[in-house]
Amino acid sequence: MQRKLKLILILLVLATPLAILNNLGVFDRFVDEETISNPESELESSQIAPEPQMRFGLPVDSFELIDNVIANGESFSNILLDFGIGYNKIHRIATEFKEVFDVRNLRSGKDYTIFAENHDSLKLARYMVYRPSAIDYVVFDLSDSLDVYLGEEEVQVKEKSISGVISSSLYKGLLEQGGSPALAVELSKVYAWTIDFFRIQPGDYFKLIYEEKYIHDTVLVGTGKIVAADFHHGGRSFYSFYYDNDTTYRDYFDEKGRSLRKAFLKAPLDFFRISSRFNPRRFHPVLKRVKPHLGTDYAAPHGTPIMATADGEVIAAAYTRGNGNYVKVRHNSTYTTQYLHMSKFAKGIRKGSRVRQGDVIGYVGSTGLATGPHVCYRFWVNGTQVDPLKQDLPEAEPITEDYIEDFRSFMNPLKARIDALDLPLAEPDQPKVRLASLKTSQSFMLNY
Ligand SMILES: [Zn+2]
Repeated sequence: MQRKLKLILILLVLATPLAILNNLGVFDRFVDEETISNPESELESSQIAPEPQMRFGLPVDSFELIDNVIANGESFSNILLDFGIGYNKIHRIATEFKEVFDVRNLRSGKDYTIFAENHDSLKLARYMVYRPSAIDYVVFDLSDSLDVYLGEEEVQVKEKSISGVISSSLYKGLLEQGGSPALAVELSKVYAWTIDFFRIQPGDYFKLIYEEKYIHDTVLVGTGKIVAADFHHGGRSFYSFYYDNDTTYRDYFDEKGRSLRKAFLKAPLDFFRISSRFNPRRFHPVLKRVKPHLGTDYAAPHGTPIMATADGEVIAAAYTRGNGNYVKVRHNSTYTTQYLHMSKFAKGIRKGSRVRQGDVIGYVGSTGLATGPHVCYRFWVNGTQVDPLKQDLPEAEPITEDYIEDFRSFMNPLKARIDALDLPLAEPDQPKVRLASLKTSQSFMLNY
């Protein structure tokens, strides 16, 4: 299994029980929360005069509200005909307001709300509100003036913190309960370039401050970004802080202001001459016909060391008639690189080998379809071959002196909060009856 996939699985396994326990209130001791986007909420709740009840920006008081779900095969006209809206209006909405929302895009399983006026025994729809997602909604104003417009629920962002020792207990039972993978995915993105994290060791632990998105202050609608994290691995803390200064930086940095991303080396060789660029319409010098050149050729003397351009795992070190001796390296779920025509592989390079950026993986040669000694360097982004020289590749630049003070004043309080987070003790030797108790519930097994 690929490393990255493993991490995601591991984190899934981690996040699932965490989410469950969190829902059960097990983490009350370790999870604190505060609303950061809505500082006035306390004031509002303490006001005595009742404000008019609103939903989707519409007054609730004068209507009967009918909440429902689009049934299988149910159409816009089906719904509205039942609420006294005639074909003429339905047709006008479907045509005149198609640019705002195409009613053919109603999906079964999605929520809608009818704001109905009671006329004798008939319920007449005055508004219909369709909700394609937890946050987005579409208002159909069904009065004679007719209108269709889009809206968004106000989202409250709350910060949560969570920590856990990674040890060998308990997780399998919790995995069966199911849960949201979103936080795990976020965490895997933050540390995507720190590949050695994938080798989790017993005693490793994590501490996170992350965001959750709510509507109506209580309804969880999604996981936001990870604000700060400490992934403690092999006795060492690996911090990450999301720093966004509105101008130059919007990314994760460690406590010293170093980027968590690792740039690719500009080329797999130190000294070279580019002899052929990435060219989808290139005339192939050996085959004598147009054949896309989906790589960049770096000519260099026979035997010149070829380096891995970023950390990764060797997924192929093999020979084919076209490629000659080649090495393919998977860097993460996004990036893969390949190096062709090697005279030979470097010592220890085989399928499954781990390589660090700059490691020598082979030597320039002209094996396979090559006219002279060079390395053909190929680059995949999400499975598509692209020209690496034209990619906006991850930056590895640290925060510059101009901004480092600002970064520190932002980061230091966050780091203090992370450091202060309680770390639940792992108690792997507790008897089974205690497995559900507070402390032992905090430790998780990583199985890979
Ligand atoms: Zn080439």
